Amino acid sequence: MRTEVALLRLLKKLQSLEASRDRLSIAESVVVATLEILDARFALLHGFRATAHGYVTAPLAWAVAGGESATTNLDHFDVEETHLNAEPLLEECALAPEGFVQQDTPDACTLAFSIGQQGTPVAIVEVHCDAHPNDDLRDCVHELLGIYAEHLCLLDYAELDTLTKLHNRKTFDENFDRFISMAEKAASRQEEDTDAFEQTENTERYCWLGVADIDKFKRINDTFGHLFGDEVLIRVAELMKKSFRGSDKLFRFGGEEFVILLRFVTAENAEQVFERFRAAVEEHEFPQVGQVTCSLGYVRINSTLTPAEILGRADEALYFCKKNGRNQIARYETLVEQNLIEPPLEAPSNSDLQADIDALFD
Ligand code: GH3
Ligand code: MG
Ligand code: MG
Repeated sequence: MRTEVALLRLLKKLQSLEASRDRLSIAESVVVATLEILDARFALLHGFRATAHGYVTAPLAWAVAGGESATTNLDHFDVEETHLNAEPLLEECALAPEGFVQQDTPDACTLAFSIGQQGTPVAIVEVHCDAHPNDDLRDCVHELLGIYAEHLCLLDYAELDTLTKLHNRKTFDENFDRFISMAEKAASRQEEDTDAFEQTENTERYCWLGVADIDKFKRINDTFGHLFGDEVLIRVAELMKKSFRGSDKLFRFGGEEFVILLRFVTAENAEQVFERFRAAVEEHEFPQVGQVTCSLGYVRINSTLTPAEILGRADEALYFCKKNGRNQIARYETLVEQNLIEPPLEAPSNSDLQADIDALFD
């Protein structure tokens, strides 16, 4: 591609970057821009995280040259075919002071650009070209990725809780409707796929919402001071990140209350993972404070309910745990079934409403 065209495209991409808050579509724009500017065969954006046991990477978005537009759908991503064992390259790139590495062979060139800080980047783009790209264009891509990194920092600042780095309440409010409609689509797909006789809660997978609250947290603050209280919040958040899967969504709702959204698990698995988290908190040795426990109420996400109703039901289950000794989990539907809490109020039917209206005019 001619340099001017590539640069014009870069400008357009930057514009769309500034306007978008959807991380996946930004990642796709960035990877397509990289592919087009460098006239590459294939570009892949890896999420990247440094852990105590080394680096963890996960493909986030990719683009392949050919056709009218680049393909970005990860569902069709074939690791065997397209991913050329890039692990050593990614590690080298993460540590490179220039923020990129380039490997030339007579008939190909592989590049990797790191996004974020040297040593602890948040993402790396791996690019495969048939020929050595123009150095100026390579520098353009480097600049573009620098802007992308800054954009990600701004998004983090807006969407994450500053103390725990979990998603904040605002992010929950803005995204919960989307999560509910995803749950609805999954449920209807399952109904189509599954034989009516097989449909039981043990085999069907649903979305779930849990509300966790640290027990007697006020006492921790009063006894050890706010700094130790904050440390407990940070550690509980770390335990959450370890206990739940990357595809689950974790929020700090405010104070010492957390919300967990689980995607597509059976009722049995939902109970297991919530219980595993509760046990992980109980077993953790918190500095100075010692043992801390938490209680957790959860509910199956039902798309006929409003977000406030779903949260209210999980809260009721949590309140039940608090009243009955704390350090436990409870599922809303089970408590209703066992007559341990009041069943939800039935919404008045249309005929009831009509009868009420008629009564007004009698
Ligand atoms: P329960 O077992 O019934 O949940 O009792 P609790 O003491 O945990 O609940 P309560 O709501 O009475 O107290 C919550 C406390 O959390 C009160 C508030 O000072 C403290 N808190 C809220 N936000 C923060 C924070 O960011 N840092 C710290 N250290 N404390 C906080
Ligand atoms: Mg509490
Ligand atoms: Mg509370």
